[in-house]
Amino acid sequence: FRAVGLIQRGMGAYQRIEQALSLPAEPPQRETPAVWARTREPARQTVSPEEPVLALRDIGFGYVPDRPVLRGLSFSVAHRQQVALVGRSGAGKSTVFALVSRFYEPDSGALLFDGLPAGGLSRAACRARIAVVDQNTHVVHGTLRDNITYAVPDATEAEVRHVVELARLEGVVRRLPGGLAGVLGERGGTLSAGERQRVALARALLARPALLLLDEPTSHLDTINETALTAVMRDVTRECSVLVIAHRLSTVQHADRIVVLDDGRAAACGRHEELLTGSPVYHELAAGQMLRPAGTRTSAVTTPRTRPR
Ligand code: ATP
Repeated sequence: FRAVGLIQRGMGAYQRIEQALSLPAEPPQRETPAVWARTREPARQTVSPEEPVLALRDIGFGYVPDRPVLRGLSFSVAHRQQVALVGRSGAGKSTVFALVSRFYEPDSGALLFDGLPAGGLSRAACRARIAVVDQNTHVVHGTLRDNITYAVPDATEAEVRHVVELARLEGVVRRLPGGLAGVLGERGGTLSAGERQRVALARALLARPALLLLDEPTSHLDTINETALTAVMRDVTRECSVLVIAHRLSTVQHADRIVVLDDGRAAACGRHEELLTGSPVYHELAAGQMLRPAGTRTSAVTTPRTRPR
């Protein structure tokens, strides 16, 4: 019943966000594919394994008329693949996340989940396939376990231990008096920024998403946290597909594919080495240290992320 209550509260919140964004109400006949409905196993449940988990086909989108942000963006994320999205500030990376989360609908083109056009699926069903970890990690006053399980309160001990291990949080469990039952201070004050991010990752992974959307932290992580995040990123693809807004060389170097967003399109796609020589935009991002090597200080990218929203 607690889970049902949480879901209802969550749905209420989504509905309020949709109202605020003035999204048109969706027609009632939109469905959830039966195979997706098997909760807590979705990462392994796909409609058709050969279809990409997510595909954007020729997407056009603008927040206001005549000011397109995306103009013909196409790329896909295959099963268990890690795709990194890079681009200059304002290129539209967060906009892609907003569209995939279905807070907006594309003006043209198609968004497909498991090969199914999003237009025929309910927004809630699409959102249940994804988990989002953004820069605003929320750590609430409560135990470490509460913080990890609050979206899945009936998670088993084994499931919790598994995501603790996956998110490289064993050190926190050892350090915190009481371990998983230890109380995190107000806003997670007992944790470093990197640890807070990994608590958010553990929480997201516990819900077993088919696709993880990760907006990688732009702020400085110390070497230990940087190494931990890199290890988590590498291992997470054993569980689900990942689309990451990447700011670090350590992330993009491990990505199966990097999509360089420029002028509203995928200006180039490929792996790090080939893009360094083949994509002027990517070369510029790397040279300008928008993509920073592990452990470097933030001075090269201190521009705050401003959002005109
Ligand atoms: P950054 O790396 O700085 O976060 P980004 O690549 O994520 O940038 P977006 O935040 O997606 O870029 O923004 C793309 C464009 O859309 C920008 O020109 C931005 O000003 C505009 N934009 C973003 N959100 C809104 C909004 N809610 N209303 C109107 N315009 C918006």
